[in-house]
Amino acid sequence: MSKVLEEVLAANANYAKSFGDKANLPMPPGRHFAVLTCMDARLDLAKYAGLAEGDAHVIRNAGGRASDDAIRSFVISYKLLGTSEWFVIHHTNCGMEFFSDEVMRGLLASSLETAALDASGFRDVGKGPGSAEGDFIDWLTIKDNAKSVVADVRRIRNHPLVPSRIPIYGYIYDVKTGKLVEVPEATEAGRAK
Ligand SMILES: [Zn+2]
Repeated sequence: MSKVLEEVLAANANYAKSFGDKANLPMPPGRHFAVLTCMDARLDLAKYAGLAEGDAHVIRNAGGRASDDAIRSFVISYKLLGTSEWFVIHHTNCGMEFFSDEVMRGLLASSLETAALDASGFRDVGKGPGSAEGDFIDWLTIKDNAKSVVADVRRIRNHPLVPSRIPIYGYIYDVKTGKLVEVPEATEAGRAK
């Protein structure tokens, strides 16, 4: 068994021991909100936003981008499970700022091994072959944090399946301080009507 697998299963066995009343949590989020954020390993909403089991929906992907699939989750979140306030939270030093579609496609075309990151960006160090399938994916990279939050809040706000009564708040999490910093233009764009 791999070390990680062993550790995860041991931690889970320990967690389940004191599971207690959490067995009775209802499915709809108790605090009626949902968050879209990046998968970055440094972001832990249970810690930085005070979430406990049963509190909120957390939708995560690379960059915390408002992809079609993120919107699918938001729609289920309000339509079937009653959330009524949403957050879009991107963060400083996001990996999505360090490449472009072109770069990612080039890297994948030459090798499926993990690339190396140095001062000049990502470069392939592994062997080929790669695959051209990367050409068919929009990697939703980020050039400017604040702009990406605004763009994503706008996309969600303007989606025909998203009701105008739901406010959408736009924030950037600072990985150097642990603080949430508002992006006023995003929150303004996401205002409920
Ligand atoms: Zn990120």
